[in-house]
Amino acid sequence: MTQHQTQPKTDANPCGFSVQYGKYIGIGANGNLWVDGCDVQALAETHGAPLYIISENELRDRYRAFRDGFLAHYPQVEILFANKSNNGLAIRHILNQEGAGGDCFGVNEMYIALLAGTDPQKLVLNGSNKQDEELEMAIANGICVNIDAMDELDRIDVISKRLGRKVAIGIRLKLDLLPLAGRTGVAMHGPGTLKEQSDSTKWGMTREQTVDIVKRAQKMANIELKETHFHLSRMSNDPENFAIMAREMIVWSGFLRDETGWTPPCIDIGGGWTFGKWYGTGPRSQIDDSAAPTPDIYGRLCGAAIREEAERLKLPLPKLRIEPGRAISGPSGVAVGQVGAIKQGASKKWVNLDLSTNHLSWASALDWYYHAVAVKDTGREANDHVDLVGPLCNSDEVGADRVMPLLERGDFVAFLDAGGYTESGAARYNAQLLPATVLVSGDTAEVTTVREQWRDVAGRFKVPPRLLAASFAKPEK
Ligand SMILES: *Cc1c(COP(=O)(O)O)cnc(C)c1O
Repeated sequence: MTQHQTQPKTDANPCGFSVQYGKYIGIGANGNLWVDGCDVQALAETHGAPLYIISENELRDRYRAFRDGFLAHYPQVEILFANKSNNGLAIRHILNQEGAGGDCFGVNEMYIALLAGTDPQKLVLNGSNKQDEELEMAIANGICVNIDAMDELDRIDVISKRLGRKVAIGIRLKLDLLPLAGRTGVAMHGPGTLKEQSDSTKWGMTREQTVDIVKRAQKMANIELKETHFHLSRMSNDPENFAIMAREMIVWSGFLRDETGWTPPCIDIGGGWTFGKWYGTGPRSQIDDSAAPTPDIYGRLCGAAIREEAERLKLPLPKLRIEPGRAISGPSGVAVGQVGAIKQGASKKWVNLDLSTNHLSWASALDWYYHAVAVKDTGREANDHVDLVGPLCNSDEVGADRVMPLLERGDFVAFLDAGGYTESGAARYNAQLLPATVLVSGDTAEVTTVREQWRDVAGRFKVPPRLLAASFAKPEK
């Protein structure tokens, strides 16, 4: 085994790891990958693979970094965790304890957040096609609804009156984003400039539509106008673009004040915030390296843009809401697979894992997203060029063209920064069973999502009795 010189324990390296992949994720004294006080090799042997592992401390730390990064530059900030990035009930409990709010997409995310006891005042409901059931749950529980369709206000009004409950609303904007017309980034919504990409999505109401909604809402005693909303999405890793977007929110506030007399007391500037790692993660060949923006940089640029524009337009500073998902959940977890068949081809070597693109949703869509490391004796020299593949019937490349240490059947491989959009986006293609999740805190590891069983997959299928009869009924003699 390679010897690993552990480091003194410090605030920045609380576990004394010799190599850090995160604050609480790195190489421990025995040379294995550790998550906080737990050896990942031991976790995988105990709980089996494929396995998601979340570090509670890393999650808390990421949330605090985001909150503090913005609070350092802006007075009133509320962090609404994008629940869709990790819907785990235990995750939601941890974030509630931290004081985080949440962005809910759909009735089920809202239900889970409420089930975990999240303060409804800190939840918002987003969605382009909200169902009555969704609106009812939001209104009954006092959750702010961000309107994104022209008939939504009237539907909210009817339900609110029927339930005898007031309701807070926001409006999702289709920002002009003219300054982004000349800028490009990651092709999230097709090719094109950031403005073209944003314009091409279904989201947001135009200026005229927004004015119309505000004017109608002003006449409804049961409706409280609470915020405007925008989500730039993951098209750009340049914090300047986020500052431009934040400034445009204020420009829109000035427009609304002039047209309707209503100044939004709160602006919600959505998600899409990235995180960087020294080894480089992120879509498209490692652009999220140590040069990637930190919460502090985002906070400084966005805070300054909002202040400047509010001053220029003589508007009061609004409360600021932010909806980070990936930047909080992503780096908090790893996904572990076990090596099976290894195949040497004429010019290529494939290492099969039981972890698939079903479980790592961005592995195929965004090349190189997840950095892979061996779990055991992880500091060994990496010089084996392999394709890490899953067991699915498609090519199932979870890590194409990787350089790994020599792997053998039975070894475990971990994909870093896999705490967001993995469990919540996992699929069952090829009738795969969804993995378990283990939550690690210090040297404690607890299952927070149980592994699916065959009965969970087969149990939802129904065979019409007429087919049963055709298959099994004995012909009458
Ligand atoms: C997806 C989404 C988020 C979170 O995005 P991240 O890239 O994970 O930060 C936040 N708000 C809305 C409205 C979203 O659709």
